[in-house]
Parts: sequence; C-alpha cells; structure tokens
Amino acid sequence: MEKWALVVIDMLRDFVAEEGSLYCGPAASALVDRVAREIEAAREAGAPVVYVCDRHLPDDPEFNMFPPHCVAGSPGAQVVPALAPRPGDRVIPKRRFSGFFGTDLDLTLRELGVGRLRLVGVCTNICVLYTAADARMRGYEVEVPRDKVASFDPGAHEWALEQMEKVLGVRVQ
Ligand code: ZN
Repeated sequence: MEKWALVVIDMLRDFVAEEGSLYCGPAASALVDRVAREIEAAREAGAPVVYVCDRHLPDDPEFNMFPPHCVAGSPGAQVVPALAPRPGDRVIPKRRFSGFFGTDLDLTLRELGVGRLRLVGVCTNICVLYTAADARMRGYEVEVPRDKVASFDPGAHEWALEQMEKVLGVRVQ
C-alpha cells in the first residue's frame, strides 16, 4: 500500500465560519468536527497532514467571479481555530482552485514519499474537484470520504462526487 497523506482543503474562516466573506453554508460548518477526527486519525497513523489553503492577492482576478475572500494576511485566510495546523504539518498556499496549480504541493508530497491522498474540505465541486483532477493526472491514488467534503450547492456536491468516481477514478467512500 502506498504511503498516504491527509490533504485538508480550504477549511478557512472565510469559507467555513458563518461570518466568512464566502461562507459555504451549514454543510461546511458541519465538517469541522468530522475533519478534526480525520486529522486526529492521520496523526495516530503517522500520516502527514497537508493543508491546502486559498491565499489571494488583494486584487486577485478570481474576485471577478467571486466576492473577495482569503486575502493573504487577513483573518479570513486563516484555518479555522479548531483545525489549526501544528508544527510539522505542511501548509500550502494557493491562488487557484487546484492545490497543484502554481504551488509546491507536488514537490512536497513527493519529498514525503506519498502516493495516496485522502482529500477532505470544501468545496466539493470546486477546489476539491480540481485538486482531485490534478492529483489523478499526476498519478496519485485519491480517496474522498463523501461525508467529509461539502459545498454551498448540494446538487453540485453530488455531481462532483460522481465525476470524481466515474471519470477521474477517485475512490469515493
Ligand atoms: Zn479563492
């Protein structure tokens, strides 16, 4: 079995806290406890915990599509306190949907000797989907527990899980 890592995607205040500027709704808030247990289980298993975090420029072009969120240095860009990274965890900032695009996520995972990723976080149909796609393009095994990812759009959540499973070869659990 390949060495695995837990990849925690965008569990940031602007997405997950009710006062966040791009709050993804109750489905996202409900993930906090479940993701906390995932992190605990990964630590117990000795698996690396890698946080992939939106971190935008103040005038990022993405804000033509979405309200400003997760601006570098702002409170909204922080991981929610209940899931705060610990020393030794990896934190990978990103400016686009995919955790691999323009980041050193791939290098980090390869240095860790990781071949299998377990993805949790938000949003199922945006950053989780495109990170899963890029992971599969690069030959990683990917698994996604369906109750540990969420979206503001329940229909898109289901659609994205189906795409991951049937098109990308992700193990949706
Ligand atoms: Zn963003």
